[in-house]
Amino acid sequence: MENYTAAPDLLKAKTILVTGAGDGIGRTAALTYAQHGATVILLGRTVAKLEKVYDEIMTISAPEPIIHPLDLQNASDEDYRILGDNILEQCGQLDGLLHNAAILGPRTPIQFYPVDSWMQLMQVNVNAPFMMTRALLPALQAAPEASVIFTSSSVGRKGRAYWGAYSVSKFAVEGFMQVLSDELRQTSSIRVNSIDPGATRTAMRKAAYPAEDPYTLKGPEDLMPLYLYLMGSDSKSVTGQALTA
Ligand code: NAP
Repeated sequence: MENYTAAPDLLKAKTILVTGAGDGIGRTAALTYAQHGATVILLGRTVAKLEKVYDEIMTISAPEPIIHPLDLQNASDEDYRILGDNILEQCGQLDGLLHNAAILGPRTPIQFYPVDSWMQLMQVNVNAPFMMTRALLPALQAAPEASVIFTSSSVGRKGRAYWGAYSVSKFAVEGFMQVLSDELRQTSSIRVNSIDPGATRTAMRKAAYPAEDPYTLKGPEDLMPLYLYLMGSDSKSVTGQALTA
């Protein structure tokens, strides 16, 4: 997929929501989607970071983005309902949803894994994408061909010692992707896939591997061909796939 070249107007007139849009891979995906013509809904918990991405998008003569602050740790069903209503009201439909936000949690043996950390991580990495997807399905169904992308990890496809809740949460994300894809394949034109970005130069990677030289890693921009392919109509018939960047 490194060889995929997206048309400059691939996402023209589309509305795309990116979670965790203030930093790392989500930030780059938001900028890239805007660059290709999308109105991007920037969702995240740190408003200052979202505002910075908003300003960057405004300098590239892309459609004006929408900032939607939300802390996925505490967001309620009602918060997601409001999000869905706002999107339908302001945009009429949702063409793309990139579930990108996640937390890493401690890397520690299961025997010593703090129960509260496990619960918090599952809330952000698994329960939040479920609640959000559920609430946004009417807006996704209003689009002619919507794309939902989940963000996985290599440890969500093969378990790894000490990666605890993070690894288990990414297995859950893969399972959710498959269930949703299978369900929607019969009844709608919404496609659902997952991406394992692979080792990428971000704050999360730095936290997981503090001793690693970040410049030996690919940057978020190197992942964008796949992120564009799955979001744009070139992947119209692709669903239920677990892809690797
Ligand atoms: P990152 O740099 O840590 O960025 C994560 C983003 O998620 C940040 O914008 C963060 O907001 C946001 N976020 C975290 N908790 C949130 C919450 N409670 N509510 C709302 N937003 C929240 O991570 P990344 O490396 O870009 O990771 C992006 C995705 O790729 C994740 O799903 C990760 O698991 C996956 N992944 C990454 C790698 C890698 O090597 N980087 C490898 C495999 C998979 P703040 O900026 O406000 O903290």
